[in-house]
Amino acid sequence: MGTFATVISCDERAAGIAFAEIGRIEKLLSKYDPDSEISRLNSAGYIQASPETYYIIKKSKDFSAASSGAFDITVAPLVELWGFKDRDFRLPAKGEIALALQRIGSDKIILNDAGRSVKFSTAGMSVDLGAIAKGYAVDCAVRKLKESGITSALVNIGGETYGLGTKAGRPWTVAIRSPDKKGFAGRLELIDRGVSTSGNYEQFFIKDGIRYAHIFDPGTGMPADSGITAVTVLANDCLIADSLSTAIFVLGKEKGSAFVKNIPGAEIAKIIMEKNVPDHK
Ligand code: ADP
Ligand code: MG
Repeated sequence: MGTFATVISCDERAAGIAFAEIGRIEKLLSKYDPDSEISRLNSAGYIQASPETYYIIKKSKDFSAASSGAFDITVAPLVELWGFKDRDFRLPAKGEIALALQRIGSDKIILNDAGRSVKFSTAGMSVDLGAIAKGYAVDCAVRKLKESGITSALVNIGGETYGLGTKAGRPWTVAIRSPDKKGFAGRLELIDRGVSTSGNYEQFFIKDGIRYAHIFDPGTGMPADSGITAVTVLANDCLIADSLSTAIFVLGKEKGSAFVKNIPGAEIAKIIMEKNVPDHK
């Protein structure tokens, strides 16, 4: 998944169990692995998916509709156009963005529950599960830990984190990094809860004093510019926290706060606006 994972537990079995499960999910969903189901879908425009891959694509499509299109896994052509795929960043021309937008929209993913078929309605589409796969993998790892009778662990994949049970009777505590990376912006306590942060200070480039980061507004084809620098979301599972933090980053503070209210068990723990970061436009 292009990032690091950590597992903390007093139970010596925990890391082995969690990493095996994370590896299994990675094989299904990674865009870096040419044989993954997602890579095969992206090259052929069609797959008959395994139950799990089908589930996550369907969840993503539903979440796109629920978030008024703010969350959308079909942004992959934009990720590539702006150079985030190979970290060869560039400012595309307006015409290029307009062309890419024709291939974007979760309504263009055609699902068939009976055969678990996934089909793109438009040539040149592709999906990127970067905003949801890590959260899902954390949830799967936690489920495996529970099935093995492990009641206490902290599982983290690239910042998507779940605190299972307590740490010797007290909540797991995690720190929120400040966007300037000089210290911490807050501290959270987790008991059977997931947390995710989406921000513009980890993956970005700066051109002519303007910061362009890796979360796109699927409506405009531009890096999202809602005024949020970072948003940290708590939820009952990590899949929800992960997808929600990305959606809120696109929606902005006002619409994002209204959206969270519709999602049981979810809340915004911290939101940092752009004026706090000097080199943001
Ligand atoms: P991170 O991967 O840093 O935790 P996110 O969970 O917010 O951050 O996911 C961002 C990634 O998701 C991007 O790198 C890109 O691959 C993809 N993405 C970008 N914009 C969107 C969007 N509007 N909806 C869904 N996925 C997106
Ligand atoms: Mg996310």
